[in-house]
This record gives sequence, structure tokens and C-alpha cells, in this order.
Amino acid sequence: MRGRRTLSAAQADVGRYRVRNSGRLLGFVLMMALLPTGWAADVQTAPDAPEAGSIEEIASATTEPRFLSPWVAYLPASSSVPSPRAFLHRIPGAPGELVNSATAYAYSRALAAASPHVKVFTIGRSEEGREIVMLAIADEQGIRDLDRLKAATAALADPRRTDRKAADQLIASSRPIYYFNAALHSDETGSTESVLELAYRLAVSEQPMIRRIRENLVVLINPVSNPDGRDKVVEWFYRFLKGKTDLATLPRQSPPYWSKYAFVDINRDAHQQVHETTKAVHRMFYDWHPTVVHDLHESVALLMSWNGTGPYNPNIDPITFAEFQTLSFHEVQTLTGMGMPGAATWNFGEAFAHLFLDSVAMNHNSIGRGYETFGNGTAETLTQTLTPEETRPEWYRVLPPPSTPFKWSARDNVNYNETAALAALDLSATQAKTLLANFYTKSYNSWRKGVDEPPYAFVIPAYQGDPLRAAQLVERLLAQHIEVHRATAPFTVKEGSFPAGTYVVRLDQPYRNYAVDLLTPQDYPKDGGEPYDDVSWSLPAHYHLNAVAIADPAVRSAALTPQTDGPHPQGHLASSGTAAAVYVLKDTGQESLLEARYRLARFKVEIAERAFTAGGVEYPAGSWLVAGGAGVRDALTSASDALALEFVALDAAPDVPKHAAPAPRLGVWVPWADTDTIGWLRYSLDQRHIPYSYVRDEDIRAGKLHEKYDVLLYGHVDLELAEQIQGIPKAWGPMPFEKTRTTPSHGTPAASKDITGGIGWEGLAEIQKFVEQGGLMVTLGSGSMLVLEGGIVRGVRRDSGGVPRSAGSGGAASAAAAQEALTRTPGAHVRVSFAQPNHPIAYGYPQHTWVFRQNFPLYATPRRWLRMAFCTTCLDGPVDPSGVVMQWGDQGGGPFVVSGQAWGEGNLIGRPAILDMPVGRGRVVVFNFNPLHRDLNRGDQRLLWNALINWQAILRWSHPGSN
Ligand SMILES: [Zn+2]
Repeated sequence: MRGRRTLSAAQADVGRYRVRNSGRLLGFVLMMALLPTGWAADVQTAPDAPEAGSIEEIASATTEPRFLSPWVAYLPASSSVPSPRAFLHRIPGAPGELVNSATAYAYSRALAAASPHVKVFTIGRSEEGREIVMLAIADEQGIRDLDRLKAATAALADPRRTDRKAADQLIASSRPIYYFNAALHSDETGSTESVLELAYRLAVSEQPMIRRIRENLVVLINPVSNPDGRDKVVEWFYRFLKGKTDLATLPRQSPPYWSKYAFVDINRDAHQQVHETTKAVHRMFYDWHPTVVHDLHESVALLMSWNGTGPYNPNIDPITFAEFQTLSFHEVQTLTGMGMPGAATWNFGEAFAHLFLDSVAMNHNSIGRGYETFGNGTAETLTQTLTPEETRPEWYRVLPPPSTPFKWSARDNVNYNETAALAALDLSATQAKTLLANFYTKSYNSWRKGVDEPPYAFVIPAYQGDPLRAAQLVERLLAQHIEVHRATAPFTVKEGSFPAGTYVVRLDQPYRNYAVDLLTPQDYPKDGGEPYDDVSWSLPAHYHLNAVAIADPAVRSAALTPQTDGPHPQGHLASSGTAAAVYVLKDTGQESLLEARYRLARFKVEIAERAFTAGGVEYPAGSWLVAGGAGVRDALTSASDALALEFVALDAAPDVPKHAAPAPRLGVWVPWADTDTIGWLRYSLDQRHIPYSYVRDEDIRAGKLHEKYDVLLYGHVDLELAEQIQGIPKAWGPMPFEKTRTTPSHGTPAASKDITGGIGWEGLAEIQKFVEQGGLMVTLGSGSMLVLEGGIVRGVRRDSGGVPRSAGSGGAASAAAAQEALTRTPGAHVRVSFAQPNHPIAYGYPQHTWVFRQNFPLYATPRRWLRMAFCTTCLDGPVDPSGVVMQWGDQGGGPFVVSGQAWGEGNLIGRPAILDMPVGRGRVVVFNFNPLHRDLNRGDQRLLWNALINWQAILRWSHPGSN
């Protein structure tokens, strides 16, 4: 409070002064006088005229003088360019106000219309149809030269066509491009406010530092990278949060969706590019080749400049790690020098995984970085209290944030964001030529590695069971601007002979490092500390495909043609011309079978339960038999074209045990309490044109589920059991998520009169009824907790890993938690074995394979019953493994980890990975992993598709034993 009074007094002085005298210099000196500590020498030399009233408004919205810097303590006045304050009728970061995407874009356009230093571009369109708009800021020369500057960075990005001498000339005559990304996480609202003010300041300020930034850089600003989420959150704020300033009693701070499919996971999309936000940023990247991609987040007090603690990714040029530390330490030094507490670096993430939005830069020879500033999750001012861990002085946090409760405002957040961003731009402008030279050197190094050292290429056979999946992997590489070729003739290298049509990724290309990262298994160091997210993203592991590293330089002599677009392999329908009795489709593990089943929904498809031979060809179990008849042939021809399936017409149906496989009526339950991971699941279903019903909590409560759905699919949710059942606290209700006049963006992709209360016990009872009446429930990841721990399936204990139940003071629960803490597979590819190789879920897979696993609860092999109380006469029932379809670990002897890393895996191996358990007349299929992880592990998807395609057979399945 003392600081607050000091600021107000000084601010009053400035106000009096400005009435008498409008002289620029003296006004600036007085303004600086209200600021508590030192600042960069530049600032004092050529001051701006502050916009009248801006100093006072900023000061009053800042809770303490130490949370303000001289750089952002005023808005520079301009007679021709509208300030955000003039446009919004408030300063950015004013308490209780948030700008929506339309207004942010309107201001961006007003800025560009008025300032010769600003230009506006549209770089994409969101899932819900909103524009994604970007500003480019530079001096007039720079704005005039944007096309030339873009051509220069593009040339520097490809050293094959730009030699050192040409590069030196380009570096001398061009500039680094620095890109800011705001509001990726929609409830982290301060970045949009910050960058709108930053854009204005960069456009109009005449401070030497700002002039230097304008003259030496092109600054790109994406003020609302996910406009769908911004609008949903802004409307949510005004509907539920405005005026509420007690952190302890704040209701839920975010709407349930930030876009059609996304919530917080929207920032983990770098490799796959599912979300329109990601696609827009990638398009921007390949168009501009920015030297820095800087993503703005909120979570850490008071500003964390990311660069990761290590381990560092071995496939990223080490220059990058030095660069981002230089930038981060400069920010820490600058803010600390200004007396702003809580600026820190290093202690966030690990920098091994580069799967985030800014990673497009890390993976393509630029610098990806980010801030976590301190957001309130609301635009109101709150009293915040930090933990002792957050406020200890450390080498990476030399001036820690306050250790006693303090008021924190949206403007404080803007002050930190904008000051640090200016520090980063200042250093980048000063080191502009070095940054460009490094960018070229990194591109050069990456290309030369592919020229000078093995492997020289990766070879991806086009026909590996599922030609479509191989094509999709290639498409994903192409989307990353990794060059792929196709062999026009057979070729032989030491590693083997490959036919024409084989995909070849030559590594003598600038994005060689990323190609290697995506095509080889990851090896996260076992002593590398706790990773932040996935530790494996190897595409061959994700797609269950083989990519052969070629160390034989002869691969360069192979006859190749560039693969410019995603390949579209087609299937065929082979027939003798006479009317066929039956068409057979050999199951070679095709991922497209679920889509095919729905395409052919009106036709009878049967599935062979055993291998058979027909026309001299061997068909494995899982192969399809489609009865001939009217329209079948045309439908199969069209399906085979679209989905690369090979149908063969036979004169007679083969004699093989088989079952009918009608397309199920599918319900997908999405709890309001967590829509994130199931959003990816919905995306995967939509991409494959799978019809399903979106089932809300209230639909579960309404019951009659068995009348509506054959299969109820419940994906992974990041919720504990009680939250899965009881949902968002009822105390906050009713919380409508509906389209209204004041909330036009709400109600999509699903609407509710009240998102609180979950399914409740009555909903759980309806799920139990659904299964008992003969439904098939399929649960993924932690969604499996609901059926196993909620008691719908009996006899499966959350595994305490052999630790006695009474061990320790905490008993079974804490013992199990301790074991789980020891056993970690944080997004790794690990081996599994089918305990029931004939089970329909195993169709298309070998007995020993692998899947992608994150950290999920461990479950024990089922028992007939579990004891009811601790006594000597009521022990657990006998083990009953009949429901175990798949187990963790390779009983064939392969190493557990395929890619990534695992800890404490000894406690996981042998435990169930997939269970198929009877409940009443129905069944529950339980996955202890998520086969639909962020549209990455496409080779795991067939496991789930098998459960859906063969739902009727699974309901009748009688556990024929393990072989
Ligand atoms: Zn974030």
C-alpha cells in the first residue's frame, strides 16, 4: 500500500505539470521520476509526448510501482494514429474489461490504416469461421520491403540455393522477423491486451530503442491466435466473473470449449497440425521464416521466460539453446534492473519435446520461446498468495516475487508482458545480424549433416499392410515442409532392395534435423528428470510403420521424383466378371476399416474369426466377407478407391467361422468437466466421417441409453473419479453454455442449460443400466476409472503393485499412489502382448506389438471378488484373467520401450492393457491407454475401431482362452 500512495502522489504531480506545460522533455523526466528504480539509458534521451491521461490511468490500474516499468508507464501521444486507449476507451489491462476478437481486429485495422509502420494480414480462419489476423510492424522502409525481406529469410532458410557469400549479402541487407503469438490459451487473457498496446507503441513511439526495433526488425503480432476461444472466454467473463474479486469464491473461470475440438491441449499440435490456429501459424512460418516464434502464456508468478531445464533435444542445433538462453537472461536482467520482482527463467519444461505451438520454429532452425506471466484467470484484480517455493531466491530467479499476499491486476500482467517483450525485441534489434547469421548457419548445419554423415535417407515402404497409413505419414512430413521423394524405379542399397513407389526422405535438405527427429525413436535420458509432456513422437512408432534409416550413400543414386502432394493410394475390386457370391477383404491392419464399415452400413458384412484360404490366397482372422447382391459391387468399388482397400470377388463363400458386424449406433459421452482429450477423439471420428451422437451429462442422466446406442464410448478425461461423476461443482450452477444475445459464441459445439453437476449418481446408475441391459461400453485412459473404480465392473483393483494392503500409514490408497508415482510412461511407445490373440480387438495386429501410453492408473489382473474387510477369513478371490485381452510388456522378449522412456516398468509389465469384462447382459471394454492421443498414434486406432466394428461379437464373446 505504501508503494501505491507514492505512485498516486507522483502521478498527481505529473498531472499538474501537464496543465502548465506541454513540453515533451520535461514531461517525460517527471513521468520517469515516479518510477522507482533504474532503467535503460536510452529511454531518457528522446522521449515521447505521453498521451494525456495515460500515465494516470496506467498508474491507477497498476497495483504497486514495482510492477511497472518506465517503458510502459505511458502511452506515446500521436496526432494521427489511434491509441488502444482512444479506440477502446480504456487502457489495455484495465480492470474488469476484456477485448473480444472483433474489436481487437478492428483496432489492428485502424492501426494499419493510420500508421505507415503497420500492415495487416489474414493468415487463417478458425473452425467457427472467424478470421485469424496478423500485424506486421516495421519502419516505412521495412513495410515497403516486406516481400523482399520475406524472400531473404526464405533464401537463408535453404542453404542449398544460398551459398555463404550470397548469405552474407542477404544478411547485410535484410532483417530478422520476430513473431508474437497471443491468446493461444483462451483463459490466459492478458497477452491480447499486451500485444495491442505493444503494436501501438512500436508503431508510434520515437524512443531510440523503439526506433531501433522498427529499423532492424520486422515484428509480427498475432493478437488473437484462437479467436473462437477468445470470444467464448470474453463472453464467459462478462457473464460469470465480472465484478468478482475474491479468488476463494470465484466460479469456474473458463467455458467448457475454446473451439470446436480444443481446450488447453490446443498448444500440443506442432507435429500433427490439427487445429486451424496451428495451421495458420505454420502457414505464417513458411511464408515469413521468422527467426523467433514467441508464444505468450500465463501461469507462473510473475514472469517465466521459457527455455527449459534440459534434457535438450539432440536433433536441434545447439546454437538455438544458446540463443534462447541469451534472450531469456536478457529479459530477467532487464526486469530485475528495473526493480520488477519475479522475472525468472530456466525452471519450466525440459526442452526435449518440441510439440508446442512455438516448436514450429525450434523444429525448423529458428527459435521457439515463450512466457508464462501471472494471470488471474479473470480481468479483475485479485489478492494472490504464493508458496514459499515460488518466492525463494534462486540463481534463475534472482529477485523473487512477493512472499506476502499482494494485489495483482490485469494491468500488472500487461506491464510484465510488454516490458519483457520490449527487452527481447531490443536485444534482437541490437543483435539482428547475429540472429540472421545463426539462422543461416543452423539451416546450413542441418543440410550438411544429411550430406556428410549417415543416415543419408529414410526409406518408407509404401505397402506395409496399410498403404493409406503410409501415405498419411508422408502427408504429415510434407505438411512440415520436409521433402519426400518417390522411387521411379527399383533400387538396391546395403539395407535392402526396394521397389518403385517406395517413399524416400533424403536427408540432404535443410529440415534434415526435424526429419530425423520425427523418423527415429526418441531416447529420453532415464536420469533426465520429470518430462513436461510426451517423450515420444516418433512417427513410425505412432503409425506402426517401418522407416529404414539408410547409411549407404548409394541411396542418392536412386531414381526419384519429388512427392509434392499427399499421395492417394487407391484400392481395387478384383473379379472374374461373373456375379460374385461374396467379396473378401484381407485384413492387413488397415486403419480405414471403421470408415469403410459406415460407408457400407446398408450392406451385410461378416468377419472371419479364423484364418482361411480362398483362391490360393491366405486370409487372416478379421478379414471381411461381404455378400454379393444389388449395389454391392459399386459400393465396394467406391470404398476401395477412397480407402485403399483391396476387395476380391469369389464364386463361393469360404467355409470359416464368422460373425455379423453391423455398424453400431455410437454414442460419445463428453463430460462438461473436461472436453479436451475427447475433443481429439471427436476430431478423429469426424475426419473419418463416423456418425455418432454427442452425449452430454444431461443426456446420460435422462437415461434410456440402451434404446439409443449400441456402443457408448467414453474417452480419456483428466479427472479424478469424483469429478467424473459429480462434474463441475453444483455450487456454481446453474451455469448455462448457450447462445444468447450477450453470449453469441456460446453453445458450440454443444449447448447446455447448466454444465454443473456432472452425471451424478443417477447418471452412473443409467450407465450401469445401459451395460446390464446389453450395451457395450468402451472406456479409454483415465475414463476407465469410472467403470473400474466406480463399481460397474467388479474385481479389478487399482494396482498396489504387490505392496501389502495395510502397508504404511496410508493403507492401500497411498501404497497404490506410491507405486504409480514410481511407474511412469509419460507419453511413450511401449510393448504389449495379446493375451487373447483371437479376440476381435486383436484383428490386424501381430500377437506382440506396441502402443502409446501416458501416465494412467495401474490396474491389477481381475479377481473373482475382492475382500470386503480386512480379516483373515475373507481373502481376495482367485485371479481370473479371462477378461484380459492385452497385457503390458512383450511376452516374446522384446525390450519394453520402443520409443521415449519408462520408469518403474517392472510394476507395469504383465498388468492388463485392455480388458473385456462382462456386466449383466452387456460388456465393458477398458483401455489402460488412449488409442486416440491427439491424432498422433494412428497405428493404435484400429484397436478401438475393432471394438466398435465387432461390438456385437464382443457382446457374445465367450473367452475362448489365450490361443
Ligand atoms: Zn498457456
